[in-house]
Amino acid sequence: MLYIGNHTSSSKGYEAMGKQMVKNGGNTFAFFTRNPRGGKAKEIDPSDVGKFLTLAGEMKFGKIVAHAPYTLNACAAKENLRDFARETMADDLRRLELTPGNYYNFHPGSHVGQGIGTGIEKIAEILNQVLTPGQSTVVLLETMAGKGSEVGGRFQELREILDLVSEKEKTGVCLDTCHVWDGGYDIVHDLDGVLTEFDKVIGLDRLKAVHLNDSQNDLGSHKDRHAKIGEGKIGLEALVRVVCHPALEGLPFILETPNDDAGWAREIALLRERYASQHSKA
Ligand code: FE
Ligand code: FE
Ligand code: ZN
Repeated sequence: MLYIGNHTSSSKGYEAMGKQMVKNGGNTFAFFTRNPRGGKAKEIDPSDVGKFLTLAGEMKFGKIVAHAPYTLNACAAKENLRDFARETMADDLRRLELTPGNYYNFHPGSHVGQGIGTGIEKIAEILNQVLTPGQSTVVLLETMAGKGSEVGGRFQELREILDLVSEKEKTGVCLDTCHVWDGGYDIVHDLDGVLTEFDKVIGLDRLKAVHLNDSQNDLGSHKDRHAKIGEGKIGLEALVRVVCHPALEGLPFILETPNDDAGWAREIALLRERYASQHSKA
C-alpha cells in the first residue's frame, strides 16, 4: 500500500486538509502545528477533528505527520529559546492527542557554535522533558542537510540523540530525501547502501516517515533547497526507487516540493502510477 500526500496548509482545519488531500489523490499529509515561525496555536475544534477522523477512516488514510515550527531550536545557546522549544513541543503533543496515534516531526536544531556533542545532549534533554509514557504520538527527528551548525546531518548524530532518550517507543526518524542528499548520502547511485547504513547506525525499525523532495543542489552541498519531483539533482528515477523500495513499504511519503495543489496532484498521480507498475511486475 502506498501512502502519499503533501505538506498542506492547516489554516482551514483538519477536515479541510483531509478533503484537499482526497482531491490531490493523497491518503496522508503533513501540516504545521502552528505558524511555522512559532507563536500561539489556534484552538482545535473537536467537531472538525471528528469529521476528519471519519473521512480518514473512510478513505483509509495512513498516519499523518504534524511538523513542528522550524524556528524551534531545542539546542539553542539561550535558555529562553530552549524554553520556547520545550513549551511548544509539550503543547503540540498535548493537542495532537485529539488525533491519536500519528507522528510529530521536528528539526533537531542548530548548536550555534556550542559543539555537536552539547547540541545532542540538549536536544535529548528536552525530549526527556516533554515525552510522556501515556502519549500516543511518536516524535520523529528529521534528517538534516547539515547546513551551518545543524544537528542531524549525519545518521550517527540522530542515533546519539535517540540513545539518550528514555521513552524509546515514542521516538523515531523522518528521512528527508533532499536533506540526506544534500548531507552527502548518495541515494541516486546507492540507495541500498544508504539504507543499509541507516539500518546499521539507527535501525530501519526506527524509520517512520519519508519527506519526498528533489534537491536544487548537488550531493553533499549542505544547502537544503527543495525542488519539484524530477526537476532537481536527485531526479525522478531515483525518487521512484525510494517510493518503491521494499524497506520503506507502508511508510507515509510526504511531498514538500515547491508546488500548488495542481502540482502536488500531478506528482502524486505520477508516483502512484510508477508504484503500481512496479508492483504489477512482481
Ligand atoms: Fe522539515
Ligand atoms: Fe523535510
Ligand atoms: Zn528542507
